[in-house]
Amino acid sequence: MLATRAAGTEGQKPLDGRHAVVTGGGRGIGAAVAAALAAQGAAVTVMGRNRDNLQSHAAGLEAEHGRPSAFEVVDLADPAQIEHAFASATARLGPPTVLVNNAGIALPAPFHRTDLHLWNKVFAVDATAPFLCTRQVLKGMIGAGFGRIVTISSTAGLTGYPYVAAYCAAKHATIGMTRALAREVAKTGVTVNCVCPGYTDTDIVTNALDNITAKTGMPREQALAEIVSHNPQGRLIEPREVADAVAWLCRPGSGSVTGQSILVAGGELM
Ligand code: NAP
Repeated sequence: MLATRAAGTEGQKPLDGRHAVVTGGGRGIGAAVAAALAAQGAAVTVMGRNRDNLQSHAAGLEAEHGRPSAFEVVDLADPAQIEHAFASATARLGPPTVLVNNAGIALPAPFHRTDLHLWNKVFAVDATAPFLCTRQVLKGMIGAGFGRIVTISSTAGLTGYPYVAAYCAAKHATIGMTRALAREVAKTGVTVNCVCPGYTDTDIVTNALDNITAKTGMPREQALAEIVSHNPQGRLIEPREVADAVAWLCRPGSGSVTGQSILVAGGELM
């Protein structure tokens, strides 16, 4: 079993023998994170709702990196499904000692149209699911004397943007949870961090562009220029750049980095 290898063997790669779970690992930033962790030697379980994406990405990771990979179909808005997915992932590849809470939804709306239903929907995936997923793995990590929990927050976890009050609030919540838990488990070998991307080239930005053009009639190039203007480097972040920051945090050598919210945003915030 991988978990047994993890207990005592120094592998050739930093995460050899580790089981990493990446939520929302079938596409976008999560897919890049899963690839970066597999490249560092981890066996990876990707979780999400879209079976086809998950299955083909897991198979691709296994073929490319020669480590076992698995997938779990789960709606992270449902606590019972989360519990089942982690039990199944643990049975397959051993107790996870790396967790990347990546899955997220944005659902933009002006504040007066942000009703309780929208608010709860965003919080369920962006704030409550990271809390519940972390609860699934924390005890095992403490028992193993090693753990890496990384939550993909956002620049929206550190500042405000118009028309995304629920998203900003949920992303701020993950940073609060991360800071509290990092202090709580500081002596256990488990680190807890956030990575905060700026606008990154994934479906979330594609959907935002669709939304802006549909609602304002603004040409797509102009909408993209407006989004990109937030980044002093004048470009979108690449998923791979976010993944590299996550992978670095997960390495054994990053053990003194905890409670941080690391911006990958081209200097948008400092
Ligand atoms: P994306 O391409 O839209 O991917 C979102 C991921 O979340 C998908 O893998 C999706 O899986 C998963 N997901 C959403 N709802 C889910 C649910 N109820 N249950 C299970 N999985 C669910 O977006 P992305 O840009 O890669 O976003 C990844 C993370 O980065 C999010 O937390 C996002 O807030 C954050 N972020 C993104 C940006 C950006 O500009 N792109 C900037 C800052 C932060 P399925 O397809 O299987 O449903």
